[in-house]
Amino acid sequence: MTWLALVLAATPVAQFSIEPLGATLKVELTVSGWKGDCLCLDMAGAEVAITGLPPHPARKECFLRPTKGPVRYAVNLEALRKLRDDPDYAADLGAAWLFHDAATLLHPDGVDTALRVRFTLPQGTSVATPWPQEQDGTFTVTPAQFDAGAYLALGTLRTLDEVKLPGFSARLTLVEGKKAATDAQLREWVRGALATLGTFYGGTPSRGTRPLHLVLAGMPSEDAGVFGSVLRRGDPSVMLLFGSQATAGFEGDWVAVHELFHLGNPPTTGRFPWFVEGFTTYYTELLRARSGAKPEAQAWETLASSAREYCQPEGTSLTERSLNLRVNHEWMRVYWSGACLALRLDVTIRQRSHGARSLDDVMRELRKGEPRSEAEVIAALDHAAGSPLASTHLAETKHVPMDEVFALLEPGSALRQAMTGR
Ligand SMILES: [Zn+2]
Repeated sequence: MTWLALVLAATPVAQFSIEPLGATLKVELTVSGWKGDCLCLDMAGAEVAITGLPPHPARKECFLRPTKGPVRYAVNLEALRKLRDDPDYAADLGAAWLFHDAATLLHPDGVDTALRVRFTLPQGTSVATPWPQEQDGTFTVTPAQFDAGAYLALGTLRTLDEVKLPGFSARLTLVEGKKAATDAQLREWVRGALATLGTFYGGTPSRGTRPLHLVLAGMPSEDAGVFGSVLRRGDPSVMLLFGSQATAGFEGDWVAVHELFHLGNPPTTGRFPWFVEGFTTYYTELLRARSGAKPEAQAWETLASSAREYCQPEGTSLTERSLNLRVNHEWMRVYWSGACLALRLDVTIRQRSHGARSLDDVMRELRKGEPRSEAEVIAALDHAAGSPLASTHLAETKHVPMDEVFALLEPGSALRQAMTGR
């Protein structure tokens, strides 16, 4: 691949050899084309899991390069797991670990680095990543992809048949373990959700170019979908957890639709959950009603009851609650208040365009171009509504008029039919 050769020639190359030993990764790293002496992690906090290198005297996430020879260090995945127990550091999925490349791979400080990564694996163990792989088994990672991040699955894994959809495909890796559902049920769970999203986005929900990389693992639960997490910049990584005791309910599940919808979220700078989570929550209901995965009446009942329970500001604006989500933990309130804004916008856009446009169009338009700031997203939403609807909804501390919106959405109404009719 010529482009890759050019990228590799233009930037320092970090060559990793990785050997797992229980919950430890033994890593050997050689860096060519670089004279510096400081190696760093991009993930704050993950340095606690690294041993074998002298820590940098002033910078917490950095270590000093030995004066000669390769860099050798170890990563304790159990120590990473204890930080948060999710794949943004490391998650224990029973027969496999799922971990973030930025929490485990040190890179030369201050320069863009291309990566070549090789694994030495015990019999029966394999690795799954979103990265392209060469004939000899080496994974190659461009600086942009390394910057975007990846989940690596390492352990006893099995590959399910590739899911092919119009214009894109997905590679499904299953972590081996006891499960009640069949492989075919799990594959259909993901395929159905991806088909729904392919229809919405007019092709792949991802901005990457390679097949989507999904890791599925069972957790003790009778629910079909249990939890998920995605990395959506570059070639994406997806983790979907299903209930190992679940034998049914995969068609109506919300977790896969919700997580995979995130792959298509417009690129943003900074975090503002009222938009990324709120609008995804809205479409998790709408898209399942449209596909028939959830009965239309039930989807509207969920929207109406959640709006009643969570959408009134009660003295604190959505902007403020969303900004402080990591402190206040008001997930439901922020997600559903964001969903209520999405609903108000959708209804307004449809009404003022006499059905020619909807929030769907705006969501697809926002995916194009450079990442937008919170202010830019709000301005685009206000513009689409033809009034400061988004800015006032976000700043409101007393009352948002949801009853008025639902009054327009009686069963059988043309508006409701246009939004969730099949
Ligand atoms: Zn989400």
